[in-house]
This record gives sequence, C-alpha cells and structure tokens, in this order.
Amino acid sequence: MDVVMIGAGYVGLTTGACLAELGHCVVCVDTDSMKVARLNRAEVPIYEPGLSELIRRHMMAGRLAFTHDLASAAPQADAIFIAVGTPSGDDGDIDLSYVKGAAAELAPLVKPGAVIVIKSTVVAGTARMIADLVAEIRGDSDVHVASNPEFLREGSAIGDFLEADRIVIGADDAHSADVLAELYAPLRKKGVPFVTTTTTNAELVKYAANAFLALKIGFINEVADLCEAADGDVAAVAEGIGLDRRIGRAFLDAGPGFGGSCFPKDTRAFAATGRRYRQPQALVETLIQRNEARKTKLAAKIIAQLGGKGGRVAVLGTAFKSNTDDVRDSAALTVIPALLDAGIAVVAHDPKARKATERLVPGALWRDCPYEAAKDADALVILTEWADYARLDLGRISGLMAGRSIVDCRNLFAPHEVTRHGLKYVSIGRRPATPTPRQKEKHPGAGAGNWTDIAAAPA
Ligand code: NAD
Repeated sequence: MDVVMIGAGYVGLTTGACLAELGHCVVCVDTDSMKVARLNRAEVPIYEPGLSELIRRHMMAGRLAFTHDLASAAPQADAIFIAVGTPSGDDGDIDLSYVKGAAAELAPLVKPGAVIVIKSTVVAGTARMIADLVAEIRGDSDVHVASNPEFLREGSAIGDFLEADRIVIGADDAHSADVLAELYAPLRKKGVPFVTTTTTNAELVKYAANAFLALKIGFINEVADLCEAADGDVAAVAEGIGLDRRIGRAFLDAGPGFGGSCFPKDTRAFAATGRRYRQPQALVETLIQRNEARKTKLAAKIIAQLGGKGGRVAVLGTAFKSNTDDVRDSAALTVIPALLDAGIAVVAHDPKARKATERLVPGALWRDCPYEAAKDADALVILTEWADYARLDLGRISGLMAGRSIVDCRNLFAPHEVTRHGLKYVSIGRRPATPTPRQKEKHPGAGAGNWTDIAAAPA
C-alpha cells in the first residue's frame, strides 16, 4: 500500500519505518524542513534504539522517503496517517490545532477511498470532528477518517510496533476498517490481537490505558513513601504484588514521579475530558497533583539537606527514562531549576539528553562522563535509570566526591554495595543506609559532608 505519514517525530518516524518493514511504501511529511533535510541524509534526529538502521535500510530499498511537500505525496496515498503533536493546552485539555491544520491541508488532496488515520493521541470525538471538517472542505461527505492510537514506549518503540500487545482500530465505516486491516495484515498473521471498534472507543482506549499505567506508577510511589516510614522495601513489595497475574509487575518501579511526552499530558487530557463531560476522574485528578508534588518535594528535600549554603550537586540522568533523549516533563526539569534557584551548582550528565535538556533548562554545567560530573560534588543524584549508571564504579565515585551522599531515585543499587564504599545511600522506598562503624573506619570520610537523612527531611 502507499502510505503517507504526516509528522516525522517519535511516533511518525517509528510508525513510518515499521510500516515500510511490513512492506508498504511510506512517505513521511514534516513541516520542519531542517528535519526533512537531515532525514534525507539518513540522519535520524531522535535517539531510538534500532531506528536509524531501520530507516537507512528502507530508504535504500526505496520504501521510505521524506518530504515537506504534502501536495506531492498525498494524492497517491491509500492511507494518510496524522501523527503530529497534541500538546497540553492551558486547562489540561489538548491543543488540537496541529491535527486540525494537517487535516485541513490534506482534505483537498486525498483521492476518493483514501483513509485518513489519526495516530496522534486525541480526545474522544476528535476523529468524527475531523471527518466533518474534511467533508466540509471537500464539499463531499464521502470521507473516511479512522483512529489508530499508538501505544509505543520510547526506548523500545520498534519492538512495541512489530510485537504489539494489540492493535486498536477505530473505524466508523466498513471501508476504513478493511483498509487498516489490510495495512496491518502481516502483524495479524503473526498473531497480534486486533480490537476493531468505533473511533470514539479507540480514542478512549488510548487515554484509559495510559491513565491506568500512570496510576500504577503513582500507586507504587505512594507505597514507597509508606515503606520508607514503616521500614519496608518497596522493591520486595512490588515483586510480591506484581507476581499476581491480575496485577502484573510492569510499571511498579518506584521513582521520582512519571514524566515523558505521554503520561503527564495524557492524564491531564483524560481529567479534562472527565470535567467536560461532567464525569470527573477523581483518581486521575489526584494522581496528577501527587505526581507533580513528588518532583517538587524531591527538589526541596535536596535543597534542605544542603543547608541553604549552596554547594554542588551532580545530577546523573535528565531524560524522563533510559534509552531515550526525550526530556519532556522529566523530573530533571523540576529538580535542576530548583537547585539552581537555591544557589546550588548543578553538574549534569546524560548519555543522550544533554542537548534537549540544555534547551529547556539552561544554567547547569555539563560533563561527558558521570565520573567527571561526580568530581567534587557534595551530593550525587541519580534521576534516570540508564544501564551505565547501574554499572558505576562506586569506589571511584566515592574517591571523587567531596560529600558522601548518593540519592538514587531509581534504586539502581543494593544499599550495602554503596555503603561499603563509605557512602551514605538514600534510595526510594527504603530507609537510607549509612556506613557501618567498620565501614567508617575503613573510609574515614564516611558520613562527612553536609548531608543528613533525606527521607526524614520535612516535606
Ligand atoms: P513530536 O513532537 O516528536 O513530532 C511531531 C512532528 O509533527 C514534528 O516533527 C512536527 O514538526 C510535525 N508537524 C506538526 N504539524 C505538522 C503538519 N501540519 N504537517 C507535517 N508535520 C507536522 O511528537 P510525537 O512524540 O511523535 O507525538 C505525536 C503524537 O503521538 C502525539 O499526539 C503524542 O501524544 C502521541 N504519542 C506519542 C508517543 C511517544 O512516546 N512519543 C507514544 C504514543 C502516542
């Protein structure tokens, strides 16, 4: 099939490359001509494991191309996906202007029978509203607009597409359903389950799924706080509940609060939809509030522990999670500015997200390796679970730091691994671990520095 993908961001690029992998001819269209020029040189502007190779392979095979000229690409297409951004608006609802803009530009260009597929995450009723918009512009009510929400996770997006848990197709007419079924036929043959339903249901599935996953994270974060107070260990509790097949282990890792391009924005939009329909989503409203408060509280605790005397903090990891350079709504965007405002020098490291972070939160010093960042730091804070951080040589870190405390918001280490190097270890959902008297003897600096018990600090 001939496919056009409008929007060459995380979703558009991954979906476009994966549809080429399924054997379709795909043209990705983006209004950002710099991005298009880079893509045409096979330079992939985002970091996503395996994506560059996939894109290069299909460009060489003639199945994948990039342009900023929708008018040249759209008329041949059997399916045109809209995968543009849907940022949060002021009231938490989403800004549909990019989706509407793309649909309006597209409306006069599509051939009869072509299906416009909304891939962007949009609120209930959007596909029907876009169908009306396209019909009005074309002066013809025979239009096909479908919904095909995306569930990929950045960092494992290609696997999530090719080995999807399910494909949700929202179609209000049989032709749209047939075209999408044919497009995804290779995945259906591999046994990927299909859910074919109305466009409104498909739109609701996406938000309800993300709200539910975000609630799991929010829940385990609250359990983690209880574990700290009750001398428990959240990892053991998560394992104990996660092995229950009705619950599942995924999304039960306590941390600094969820971020990224989806959960914060999608929970806000879900809550806004509830308010609009006068069916308030109280659980999700509370979740949003608690999640934001968690990041602010973390920053406040770090500042309080440095005693208002300034100091130097090494921040390892600014991406919202590992294996991505995406920093949208990451904990680092709250923590770094708060530390800087408090007069604390921040020395940051992230293997992929430096550029994106510098654009959003200037003022931190950057180092090319975590050891350089740790040098002379009064405290070291781990915000992202990069695998390299879990392999850090803690003896070397201990020797480089001026202070003794490691605040690990991702629980990358067993407490005794850290304390045996004379460091104090503050993690999430576990009591802070301090070096034993023997360890202190071996490392005379242990317990020195201006750090006290972060978990016991006032909120
Ligand atoms: P993004 O910001 O990375 O990319 C959007 C792209 O669309 C940009 O390159 C922009 O230049 C382009 N664009 C905007 N208007 C255009 C137009 N009229 N014509 C052509 N190009 C245009 O966004 P993203 O992260 O890929 O997200 C896209 C949508 O998918 C959003 O609704 C998002 O919520 C949803 N989604 C994202 C993820 C994710 O993990 N990133 C996962 C599932 C769903």
